[in-house]
Amino acid sequence: MNARTDVAIVGAGPAGLLLSHLLHLNGVESVVLESRSREYVESRVRAGVLEHPTAELLREVGLGERMDREGLVHAGISLRFDGADHRIGFDELLGKTITVYGQQEVVKDLVAARLRDGGQVEFEVADTAVHDIGDDAPWVSYVDAQGEGRRLDCAVVAGCDGFHGVTRGAVPSARLRVFDRRYPFAWLGILAKARPLHEELVYARHARGFALCSMRSPQITRLYLQVGADETVEQWPDDRVWEELTARLAVDGRGTVNVGDVLDKGVTAMRSFVAVPLRHGRLFLAGDAAHIVPPTGAKGMNLAIADVSLLARALTALLRTGRADLADSYSDTALRRVWRAEHFSWFMTSMLHSTGDEFDEQLALSQLRYIAGSTAAATSLAENYVGLPFA
Ligand SMILES: Cc1cc2nc3c(=O)[nH]c(=O)nc-3n(C[C@H](O)[C@H](O)[C@H](O)COP(=O)(O)OP(=O)(O)OC[C@H]3O[C@@H](n4cnc5c(N)ncnc54)[C@H](O)[C@@H]3O)c2cc1C
Repeated sequence: MNARTDVAIVGAGPAGLLLSHLLHLNGVESVVLESRSREYVESRVRAGVLEHPTAELLREVGLGERMDREGLVHAGISLRFDGADHRIGFDELLGKTITVYGQQEVVKDLVAARLRDGGQVEFEVADTAVHDIGDDAPWVSYVDAQGEGRRLDCAVVAGCDGFHGVTRGAVPSARLRVFDRRYPFAWLGILAKARPLHEELVYARHARGFALCSMRSPQITRLYLQVGADETVEQWPDDRVWEELTARLAVDGRGTVNVGDVLDKGVTAMRSFVAVPLRHGRLFLAGDAAHIVPPTGAKGMNLAIADVSLLARALTALLRTGRADLADSYSDTALRRVWRAEHFSWFMTSMLHSTGDEFDEQLALSQLRYIAGSTAAATSLAENYVGLPFA
């Protein structure tokens, strides 16, 4: 069966759902196609830190109510090294904050808003493929949740289907330039029923490896451990996890971690990746479909949101008034911010993880001590962490 819309959006992650919401506010129609179920996307635990401009945007477009009620506003982070904490105060340095609010909560708010506004989000679709992106009349084929083959004609396709999606693969490889860096370690993420060790995030550099203590609520903590790139969850029974967290997050030899029941554990690969340009004819890529970062800088979801805030404006101008300049410059404009976040994520990752190389170790400690002792260096970290302006 055939249908038609202005923008066919592949993927109902933060990028695809927010793009659909922003286009709706601008009077542009879209259909979102998602391979997973609504329950799955609403419970997928991933990112948890919203930059200052992300939180501002969500408020501006009517999505801030629950975030402001349930999110935790943080005015700084701590860098833990040399056996002590060194606080970077975003409020004192910049007058800005970040908000700790899980990605799955952002997704729940977005799905609720799309459905409330009569938006079309099709879950559990299969075999999605994009066609004729080089023409003025692209289309998407897929099999719907009832097993029926469908064709969606559109003016534009938005590839918001994450790193493992299909839209980036629709671009001929000769027209796509890929920048890729893999790190020799991964993160073991732990969700636990335990009080966070501190009211703000603690990033620890330790000779045994990096550790991060974050939170989802005053009772639920989210912890991360640097592990080997090829290690699996099975190699990390709960006792070993707590022992390692206790050692890496100790201050002056004293344990600081609150132990509790582990609710979830998973290993995340660490990779930096950018595929350029973000536009190929009538296909526009946004979010993880085009670029990923190691999570140390808390940038992944924020970048996806920044991309679609630009893309919504560009597509509205293109489809409502025929003005093409914003669509033409979308890739270059978005990539400037993407590369800044790529650099910051690489910088935080290199400074906080151990590679076993003694020279790297000394460089990293020198950088950390410089940030702890210099207002200029601390301000630079703070400015990148809270997020640079979207445009
Ligand atoms: C395991 C993991 C942990 C992470 N942890 C952090 C973190 O702690 N901090 C941080 O800042 N970032 C983290 N990230 C990164 C962050 O979650 C992403 O940057 C963010 O999800 C990007 O949003 P997106 O909408 O671009 O892509 P996604 O959230 O990946 O959404 C893409 C959507 O497209 C759907 N899809 C895929 N293929 C198809 C298809 N063929 N047809 C239809 N739909 C399709 C997917 O099911 C998905 O719902 C993590 C990522 C992962 C994978």
